[in-house]
Amino acid sequence: MGRWIPSAALAHAGQPAALFFHGVEARTFDGRIQTNHHEIAAFRAILRGLEEFDVLPLTALDAVLAEPDRHRRAVFLMSDDGYRNTLTVAAPILEEFRLPWTLFVSTAHVGNGRPNPMFLARLFFFHAPAGDYALPHFAGRIRLGDAKSREKSAFSGLERLRFLPAPQAEETLAAMIGAFAPGALAELVEHFASEKFLSWDEVRALRDQGVTIGAHAHTHWPMHAGQSDDYLRQQARLSRARIETEVGPCRFFAYPFGNRNDVGPAAWKAVREAGFTHAFTTLSGTLAAGKPAAGSLEAGGNPFLLPRYGLGPRDSHVASLVPLLAAGNPRVRSWQASLA
Ligand SMILES: [Zn+2]
Repeated sequence: MGRWIPSAALAHAGQPAALFFHGVEARTFDGRIQTNHHEIAAFRAILRGLEEFDVLPLTALDAVLAEPDRHRRAVFLMSDDGYRNTLTVAAPILEEFRLPWTLFVSTAHVGNGRPNPMFLARLFFFHAPAGDYALPHFAGRIRLGDAKSREKSAFSGLERLRFLPAPQAEETLAAMIGAFAPGALAELVEHFASEKFLSWDEVRALRDQGVTIGAHAHTHWPMHAGQSDDYLRQQARLSRARIETEVGPCRFFAYPFGNRNDVGPAAWKAVREAGFTHAFTTLSGTLAAGKPAAGSLEAGGNPFLLPRYGLGPRDSHVASLVPLLAAGNPRVRSWQASLA
């Protein structure tokens, strides 16, 4: 039970929920770059909070969605992207707590060592040589000088990059990479070992430990309404095909970024078309908001736009947080309706 919520109230308010993290590191040393990783102590605090719930493997999702009222304490735990430290650091801790979990991998990055584009963009803003840069598809010049100017440029620049159509974003990213002296970027990438992706052998090792493997698109770019239909279909189809070849059957998807403006109406249809049965966003809410069939308390939810709560690096009171997630459901449902 949540320490500050009477058990009767919790039993009434409880609804099944999905929670996700990215990577886990013994120590992070640059919060501007390593935005995706929990430190071990914080991660353990989250897992201790989950001892009060029924943490289930994602294969139980159909049963939970069919009758959310019968699974009020159900929680699904997930990790996004496919960082190597999920195998080396997170998996042994999760095993110690005996918690089942799902790993969503971006298949273009697994195995070929290609870093997450947003990580490269962050390296540009915070570590490229000082100067004024003209970047393709960016209005005006980007000023990189002292820490403050970099912070400011990154704040607007990362958003701008994220909402470009993928082919344009790739051109912008190539120019960002070009700002580094030969070898300097490779050295930086090595320095940030936290951002390394798993190999397929390592993904298979996790599968063999009982981890469910899902798809997190092919390239780690958003699937927003500015992307072409072809691109969206590819992102869904390629990721599923690759996982089925390398790992085995795959029916769960999680959208990169996955927030309100990162997922367009064509995205979830492309995911459905590719043969997935369920897909997760990063809007906050409970799984009752995704119950597909009519005739229930929470009718009309879209199983391809399921809400999911992102665990922040300092989220420690999970037990009291999960029962509050239902407050996000009206927003989730109106968003789902707007993407119909
Ligand atoms: Zn991601």
